[in-house]
Amino acid sequence: MLCSNKFFRLVFLFLILFPSNRIFSENGKKPKNIIIMIGDGMGLNYITASILNDDKNPFKEFNSIGLSITCSADNLITDSAAGATALASGYKTNNKYIGVDSAKIPLLNIFEFAKKHKLSTGVVVTSSITNATPACFVAHIDNRAREFEIAKQYVESGIDIAIGGGLKFFLTQSKGGGRSDGLDLVDSLKTKGYLFYKDSDELKTYNGTKKLFALLDDDGLKPVGQRNISLSELTTSSLKHLEQNKNGFVLMIEGSQIDWAAHANNQKQIMLELTEFERTIESVLTFAKKDGNTLVVITSDHETGGASIVSGKNDGSDIKFGFLTFGHTANCVGIFAYGPGEENFRGIMNINQIGKNFFKLINPTRNSKPIVSRTTTK
Ligand code: MG
Ligand code: ZN
Repeated sequence: MLCSNKFFRLVFLFLILFPSNRIFSENGKKPKNIIIMIGDGMGLNYITASILNDDKNPFKEFNSIGLSITCSADNLITDSAAGATALASGYKTNNKYIGVDSAKIPLLNIFEFAKKHKLSTGVVVTSSITNATPACFVAHIDNRAREFEIAKQYVESGIDIAIGGGLKFFLTQSKGGGRSDGLDLVDSLKTKGYLFYKDSDELKTYNGTKKLFALLDDDGLKPVGQRNISLSELTTSSLKHLEQNKNGFVLMIEGSQIDWAAHANNQKQIMLELTEFERTIESVLTFAKKDGNTLVVITSDHETGGASIVSGKNDGSDIKFGFLTFGHTANCVGIFAYGPGEENFRGIMNINQIGKNFFKLINPTRNSKPIVSRTTTK
């Protein structure tokens, strides 16, 4: 009997010390804000080239590092649609699918989940905002090429901040856009209370009070070297609004064009795009360190180009890549995490586990089964 009482006291003590929602290892802290940074096509090869010659490289600041296995539901080699669906929903899908599973059933995404918990949401990208990676955080459709439909879903999504390119997908042909259905989605956005900018100088004056769409080019932004505003500046603008929500926010930032330069096997442009992405990591880490309650997770959807470092000086300068493909590869990509909950991103995991972790960090009791979000898929 004495033994039994002791047992129950121990159980009671255990429950006080480890209540059921403390599912996380080590400190088990829950962040208020989550910033997801995706370097599209950003393989470890490119990060290696960057850190070899740079003692102060921001990737060297991370202690929680993992590897992501990027395969999609139907292919060893993923595309950006299946990759970002895994990151945004926690579930794998087929290549080309945006926010729907292999049976084309819509999957709840992390932005929709965040909204249910009264968090703000935003995307900041250098592609069109309707391109595959950001689309997976907003839309549900079985074909990534249907960017005009994805634009419509943006208007209905309730997202707080969308910064990038893609103006032509929102404007009618009569106003210089590409829409043939007569819908002026810029008007619809203004009706819904959004500020709308199509000029980077306008964006630089943004004070953060209102929700915002800033579509700074017809399709993707110009490449680094030709664009007149940096990803870091775009990010700073988004944070002006997002940080005002006392419940927190989820922000996805994409270095979209690392992938495009890697498809072209253009070493110089890959490193320019990656360097810009690294400057953005620095400003995000500055924000996160000051805030103290922000989780930053940096990863990629897949590697592009199959590059290896085949020559260079032993101080890391004059590096030269050899490329194996103009496409994607199945090489693992890195995961780098900082802030409350960072311990969940250590080790080797499937890409969709990263997405599952985001859900659990917002609400630890989240049901692990797929949740159908809405039925707007066509
Ligand atoms: Mg992308
Ligand atoms: Zn690609």
